[in-house]
Amino acid sequence: MKPFEIVYPKTIPEAVRQGQQRDSLFIAGGTTALDLMKYHVWQPSIVVTLESLSLKGIRLENNLLRIGAGETMSNVAYHSEVGQYFPMIKESLLLAASQGIRNAATIGGNLMQRTRCPYFRDTTYRCNQREAGAGCDAIGGWNRYHAILATSPQCIAAHASDLCVALAALQASVIVYGSSGERRIAFGDFYQLPGKNPEELYALKPGELILRIEVPYSEAARNSTYIKVRDRNSYAFAISSVAAGITLSTGTITEVKIGMGAVATIPWKAREAEKFLSGKAPTEENFREAARLATQGAQTTPTNAFKVPLIQNILLKALSKLT
Ligand SMILES: Cc1cc2nc3c(=O)[nH]c(=O)nc-3n(C[C@H](O)[C@H](O)[C@H](O)COP(=O)(O)OP(=O)(O)OC[C@H]3O[C@@H](n4cnc5c(N)ncnc54)[C@H](O)[C@@H]3O)c2cc1C
Ligand code: SF4
Repeated sequence: MKPFEIVYPKTIPEAVRQGQQRDSLFIAGGTTALDLMKYHVWQPSIVVTLESLSLKGIRLENNLLRIGAGETMSNVAYHSEVGQYFPMIKESLLLAASQGIRNAATIGGNLMQRTRCPYFRDTTYRCNQREAGAGCDAIGGWNRYHAILATSPQCIAAHASDLCVALAALQASVIVYGSSGERRIAFGDFYQLPGKNPEELYALKPGELILRIEVPYSEAARNSTYIKVRDRNSYAFAISSVAAGITLSTGTITEVKIGMGAVATIPWKAREAEKFLSGKAPTEENFREAARLATQGAQTTPTNAFKVPLIQNILLKALSKLT
């Protein structure tokens, strides 16, 4: 590992100042950052620890759930109100990583975790996310885990987070702090599509820090679930996943929220499927049509084309379970 300086800012503005320095890197639980430093993917000169900042707190108030960026995945998963009112968040966290990792990993770090594309993590391969303009060895290479939606000729890496699938479905906000103070970013605007510049992943300015996420409560959040399919039943990233929530009134769907994971380059909200289902009856026929719409325009490779029927079936299963 390249030698680096480690700093312990005492205040949020101080952390932002340190984070604006060239080659600096924020570190929270370290479960992504240390791996990537050991693999020489990241070689920071300054590591800015976030541990001593007060980025904590989980509170449901006025129909808004606020979760501090420094809370661990475990703390959030086992919070009683999260479990009661936002089951898809709880389930997405408990199906992620391992208990040990969840005890250390933070919510801020989960949002900022990087793709598991093996070519990104191995510096002997070409990767546009790691090095702008280098090329992409996954396209035409081994791409079974890669995205089928929102891909570009520059990058087809799937977003890896489970939690973010639920946050996309529920239209969370990310509250960040930078040199101009605090601002709110809608979850749908937080991640950038891998167009010409796949190395630019987030709508964050240099040194900006995530303070917390905010998730609006709704009846669909309460009647929700997260289903994850992976190669083994524990301690594995998703191959495809769905976060879904539904509200029914007199036999009609009045509100529906759908997120899809590991199939798109960013946490994916299935807007066409949601639009189709609103005001419809919760029938298998309607669910099948919604699943078809959710994968419209998918761009597959010979090794990841199986994700189209897989995600359709998971969506069908999630919607059927909730109605
Ligand atoms: C073996 C293994 C299995 C895993 N399996 C899963 C899984 O199944 N599902 C899943 O969703 N995840 C999985 N993960 C990923 C894990 O959830 C993330 O590594 C973790 O959430 C990152 O949090 P952290 O606090 O450790 O972040 P760190 O490693 O400390 O940081 C990660 C990134 O976030 C940035 N960062 C951290 N906090 C902030 C902040 N407040 N503001 C701005 N930037 C910030 C850092 O600068 C860095 O770029 C797995 C990880 C491992 C190692
Ligand atoms: S798919 Fe994206 S992350 Fe993977 S090698 Fe290509 S550019 Fe890099």
